[in-house]
Amino acid sequence: MTSDQHFVIVGGGLAAAKLAEALRANDFAGTVTLISAEEYLPYERPPLSKEHLTGKKSLEEFTVDPSQWYRDHHIDLLLGTEVGAIDTGAKTVTLPDGSTLGYDKLALATGSTPRRLPIPGMDAREVYTLRTIDDSDSLIDLFGSAQRLVIIGAGWIGLEVASAARGAGVEVTIVESAELPLLAALGPEMGRVFADLHRDHGVDLRFGAQVEAITTRDGEPDVAAGVRLTDGTVIEGDAVLVAIGARPNIELAANAGLATDGGVLVDASLATSDPNIVAVGDIADAQHPVLGRRIRVEHWANALNQPAVAAQTMLGKSAFYDRLPYFFTDQYDLGMEYTGYAAIGEYARVVVRGDLAKREFVAFWLDADNRVLAGMNVNIWDVTDRIKELIGQQVDPERLADTSAPL
Ligand SMILES: Cc1cc2nc3c(=O)[nH]c(=O)nc-3n(C[C@H](O)[C@H](O)[C@H](O)COP(=O)(O)OP(=O)(O)OC[C@H]3O[C@@H](n4cnc5c(N)ncnc54)[C@H](O)[C@@H]3O)c2cc1C
Repeated sequence: MTSDQHFVIVGGGLAAAKLAEALRANDFAGTVTLISAEEYLPYERPPLSKEHLTGKKSLEEFTVDPSQWYRDHHIDLLLGTEVGAIDTGAKTVTLPDGSTLGYDKLALATGSTPRRLPIPGMDAREVYTLRTIDDSDSLIDLFGSAQRLVIIGAGWIGLEVASAARGAGVEVTIVESAELPLLAALGPEMGRVFADLHRDHGVDLRFGAQVEAITTRDGEPDVAAGVRLTDGTVIEGDAVLVAIGARPNIELAANAGLATDGGVLVDASLATSDPNIVAVGDIADAQHPVLGRRIRVEHWANALNQPAVAAQTMLGKSAFYDRLPYFFTDQYDLGMEYTGYAAIGEYARVVVRGDLAKREFVAFWLDADNRVLAGMNVNIWDVTDRIKELIGQQVDPERLADTSAPL
């Protein structure tokens, strides 16, 4: 690889920063330009709904690398710069001023954007979504003044914000169209654990509820006052958080003619349908060599670990991303880690090992042949490696549940 090559990274989250790190760690001596739409140095997002929201961590503590690192490693940073187009024939990206920047290899790490609701009131003031440090700071300010928060969506972000809000003394109502929280991620068995957790902390949970409109204040039609459900129920609040999931930012790739299908399609080496372009993080819908299927997950661990493989691919070396999906959450006094992949409808049973009532257990998702698909440790630590080893293995469910038998 000659040093006159120019590698461009589009994106400014964890995946983008890790890719810049991995290129230099692999002794790539050419030019690296990282272009991010955000004004901030790349930072990690999990603390935005956890330690930052509860005042325990400042942005500096979860900024991936300080500015000195980018200077020391000769990474050209274009912050506050949104790439508008890619020309795969000319091998250029278009910058906001209409100028173009050439690349030899390109990495896409454009992440996700919170989904919005197509209902009246979505654009009112005091309606929040959470993706960026500015969003998180706005919620911190809100917690200082609001008494009642309505959260639409009982997914990870909705639940984590509920936990932080309760900690700040804010009354919380969560409105969810499904019958339980986290149903798509964990299924009903473990969804119930999270419903109980939040009820125990005073959250008003409304399941099977469809929001028809975000209501606004009398005389102030541009300020949110709560939500109205399709059955006519009105839930009042000083603010509304819309936390109904995220949409991967794949327009850039799709408009450039790269293969997409909900995410940017990449092979196990993380190369897109254009061999000069890789994709990593939330947008990458990757062929997984171990799971034997295509998978796209919006997980911190993916953004952390995929770039090392993508960097190898950009450098023309052979590498495959075969790590199992892993994610974590912290809510109130519950901490958990989840490893593996057990889509709802694809597992046969959940086996619990430990004390469900005390929320100290490991849950395993098994298929019809008692093969382990995924495991989740709740308030039990240092078992992730063992869970990883069990994935794909056929087990005796009773023995698995027996805490007197070694895991
Ligand atoms: C509040 C919150 C809490 C989370 N908590 C957890 C957790 O507990 N556990 C877990 O596993 N995961 C968690 N996640 C998910 C995790 O943070 C994401 O999976 C991860 O951030 C993905 O990284 P990424 O680099 O792919 O994308 P992102 O972090 O979304 O970064 C994408 C970047 O690309 C920029 N960009 C987009 N388009 C362009 C363009 N055209 N030109 C230039 N720049 C562009 C964006 O502005 C952004 O800076 C959480 C996410 C959020 C928002």
